[in-house]
Amino acid sequence: MAAMKWWGWGEEGVAFSHEDKPGLGPYIAENLGLDISRPTETPKAFAALDVPEPVLADPLRATLEEAVGAGHVSTEPHDRVVHARGKSLRDLVRQRRGDLPRVPDVVVRPGSEEEVTAVLQAALAADAVVIAFGGGSSISGSLEAEAGEERTIVSVDMGRLDRVLGIDAASRTARVQAGVFGPHLEEQLSRQGWTFGHLPDSFTHSTLGGWIATRSSGMQSDRYGDIADLTRGLRVVTPSGTLVTRPVPSASTGPSLREMVLGSEGRLGLITEATVHVQRVPDSRVILGYLFPGFAAGLAAMQEIAAAEVAPSITRVSDAPETRFSFATRKRSSPVDKLKSKALTTFLERRKGFDLGAMCLSFIGYEGTGEHVKVQRKAVGRIVARHGGLCIGASPGELYDQKKFDTPYIRDFLLDRGCLADVSETAASWSQLDPVYTAARGAAHGAFAELGVRGYVMCHLSHSYHSGACLYFTFAFMPAPGGGDALEQYDVVKGAVQQAFVDNGATLSHHHAVGTEHAQWLEQDVSAPGVALLQALFEGADPQGNLNPGKIVGARHVGVPAGNHTGSPE
Ligand SMILES: Cc1cc2nc3c(=O)[nH]c(=O)nc-3n(C[C@H](O)[C@H](O)[C@H](O)COP(=O)(O)OP(=O)(O)OC[C@H]3O[C@@H](n4cnc5c(N)ncnc54)[C@H](O)[C@@H]3O)c2cc1C
Repeated sequence: MAAMKWWGWGEEGVAFSHEDKPGLGPYIAENLGLDISRPTETPKAFAALDVPEPVLADPLRATLEEAVGAGHVSTEPHDRVVHARGKSLRDLVRQRRGDLPRVPDVVVRPGSEEEVTAVLQAALAADAVVIAFGGGSSISGSLEAEAGEERTIVSVDMGRLDRVLGIDAASRTARVQAGVFGPHLEEQLSRQGWTFGHLPDSFTHSTLGGWIATRSSGMQSDRYGDIADLTRGLRVVTPSGTLVTRPVPSASTGPSLREMVLGSEGRLGLITEATVHVQRVPDSRVILGYLFPGFAAGLAAMQEIAAAEVAPSITRVSDAPETRFSFATRKRSSPVDKLKSKALTTFLERRKGFDLGAMCLSFIGYEGTGEHVKVQRKAVGRIVARHGGLCIGASPGELYDQKKFDTPYIRDFLLDRGCLADVSETAASWSQLDPVYTAARGAAHGAFAELGVRGYVMCHLSHSYHSGACLYFTFAFMPAPGGGDALEQYDVVKGAVQQAFVDNGATLSHHHAVGTEHAQWLEQDVSAPGVALLQALFEGADPQGNLNPGKIVGARHVGVPAGNHTGSPE
């Protein structure tokens, strides 16, 4: 897997382009007052970065080299900078500025669970900080070492643990090493006719271990489940040995250890392997586009689908601002397409009574046997019609499916033009969804007004459940020139949206984890005793405070008792 850009998303040489999308420039000019025709800002050149010298004592280097082989221990500056942070907006802005107060001192790449154990033991013995690194796509500040950290920081890149170890066809599970990236996992499974079906937007640059450690969710979660549903057994190298949870379908063994590891962000140990659900590659897979007269109608339809005896693989509906944005990113169309689109808009306005400005685009996916897909489509079609919506066929869904992994590049495109764009996502019960939507939108607009900037906020429902759904907000604005540091302005908007979530009974994050970005809302979300329990869990598992300290809840560095710096942990 090629390393990601140190300053942005994806691989060097791949970028979002506006040139084949004639509607985008005028749309952004109108809504953000931004001329996108030329970039105004570029990341610093790598050679101009002031990368701090690594702090790595010879004995620790020697033990690490002995554990994994010298070729898998790197103090090379580019490697260390790539491993310093994830891809949150704050991460990208500071990387681009060359703001690198504390980067890992060494990147280590173990190739087996035994090597992971040896690395952890060496690091603990030297009282070093250990930060597990999957794909580096964290969007919540889960990877960055604390600014004042004085101990040696060891980034443990799990990427060599990338194999499917076996498939139990009867149980429909697979044993998989945790460092495998999404595409490589699917490739190995599909050779044997299986799929994992977990497709986060970051799929190309994230790993199984990272998904588990952040409680990730993919676009097909309605059918396959979130990573928490997909993960059965776990192997985790911890300071007190290897934690093993059995891959049984359910267990009554006290509070779930499996659940404790899910979302633990590297604070309990290094996940080396998981036994996960797999499914047979479906015969048929289709994503259909639908239009609704408004967002309330779209949400009501999704709620009815969740309550009905139908099981689509994807339920997604955008609000009107996101729908308008999607249409603005369409590629230049042929004369025939233009005619078709004109005919559709005329039909929608005149025959269906749609207000085109309020119209909402939806994608609903179906998978399974041809017959199953047919039955599901019909059932969903009836529900959509009851809410005033209509199907616009498979082509918009096919386009969405092909382009879904390109979308993340747009954030760098906007940063190149000085524009800050980011996301905040949450989950709430069906009864609370509309208040959360209204409050979060209102909070974003309030923050734009407070800053005196033009901003844009849009939203979609992205995952449906028995009792509620995930709402995913994207916001963008041009920071006010005299308004202080861009990241401080960003905090005003991001903070307002997050606060609206917790004030309205929603969670601080549905699938992006806590990290450091969301930690300030944790107590409001899970209560003070909840935070105390998490703190006790992390301190109990990692008494020296070496494992990714400061994430989820603040860490206390207890320190190693004198004389114990060379001994092995028990
Ligand atoms: C553009 C973009 C789109 C995204 N889309 C989605 C989406 O659709 N759905 C979604 O859920 N998330 C999404 N994310 C967030 C991110 O991709 C997820 O949090 C992902 O699960 C992180 O996986 P990773 O392998 O990149 O982990 P990393 O970013 O490397 O690490 C994340 C955390 O997990 C820990 N960790 C990683 N591997 C291990 C391991 N083996 N053992 C123990 N701890 C470990 C790290 O220490 C860190 O705390 C997106 C992010 C971006 C930037």
